Amino acid sequence: MEQHIEIKKLEDWGINSIEKPLFISGPCSAETEEQVVNTAKELKDTGVQVYRAGIWKPRTRANTFEGVGSEGLEWLKIVKQETGLLTSTEVAQVKHVYEALKAGVDIIWIGARTSANPFAMQEIADSLRGVNIPVFVKNPINPDVELWIGAIERLNQAGIDKIGAIHRGFSTYEQSLFRNIPKWQIPIELKRRLPNLPLICDPSHIGGRRSLIQSLSQKALDLNFDGLMVEVHPDPDCAWSDAKQQITPGAFHEILKSLVFRQAKPENVSMEEIEDLRYKIDLYDQELIKLIGKRMEEVEAIGRYKKENNMTVLQSKRWDHLLEKNIKNGEAAQLSSDIIGAVFKAIHQESINKQTQILNG
Ligand code: PEP
Ligand code: MN
Repeated sequence: MEQHIEIKKLEDWGINSIEKPLFISGPCSAETEEQVVNTAKELKDTGVQVYRAGIWKPRTRANTFEGVGSEGLEWLKIVKQETGLLTSTEVAQVKHVYEALKAGVDIIWIGARTSANPFAMQEIADSLRGVNIPVFVKNPINPDVELWIGAIERLNQAGIDKIGAIHRGFSTYEQSLFRNIPKWQIPIELKRRLPNLPLICDPSHIGGRRSLIQSLSQKALDLNFDGLMVEVHPDPDCAWSDAKQQITPGAFHEILKSLVFRQAKPENVSMEEIEDLRYKIDLYDQELIKLIGKRMEEVEAIGRYKKENNMTVLQSKRWDHLLEKNIKNGEAAQLSSDIIGAVFKAIHQESINKQTQILNG
């Protein structure tokens, strides 16, 4: 747990409509007054508490649509007046912060390119000193939990304690089903380190396509996320940015209705059965640790032999063979090649480290 970061739980933010599950929804970009206001009207009765619209858009390439700018803030004012929804937008520079605050935007968020930049984060945090506005911090594009915590910490040290995190996946060179790979372990680690921090999922930017939004949303809820941010557009195919991942307000409403909401610890449910199963799992974990320890003793013996005989630590053929054999054995036990690969790569790395120490010790 991070001792020096103090964040208020969602229910202590003191904002009426803000509660778990928190739904933030609206277009990737504000395009026209009509699009912004009509989308909000259609979303009003779906269960959404906060309306989102990007006013300043960080785009990968120049000469693409970079947002309508301050003019769009007037449209968010109309949304608030006509629907009562809270409004939110992304800020990436101090100028954006001042303009958003001046226009009465209720919540701001920091985008994934900005949270990766400590200089930008510090400037934004300094500009928010003394301001009591909730801020959501998207994960930095690179999968680095420390960088994400660092961005949150800078805001917290500037006096902001209504901070939330948005998981929007991570950039990758790898071929992937997703636009940004989720790497769920990273938001889970963030929550372990900052237990009070509200954590919501952005399935639109993770998936990058409409067909993935429902399943990603359900997965996030099953992992006890506090809410969702989903991009919604009245005519998604014609959206000026992120067209492939936006859905209509109607489709969004259908997804919300399809989601199953589970509780971490439902009242009136006995935990006894789960505790029994957990007890058994703990015993298996103890066994696993003992076995890995014994395996390492043999690894060390091999290390000593290699040292005496001037042999290299890595014997590629042996490693290929071992991985292949274990993946096959795993199949027989209904274990995927993913888990066998991950476990044995970690064990093999530790074996190499141990033998390298022995060779040079
Ligand atoms: C957005 O929410 O439209 C956006 C630009 O997201 P991200 O910072 O996650 O790329
Ligand atoms: Mn977008």
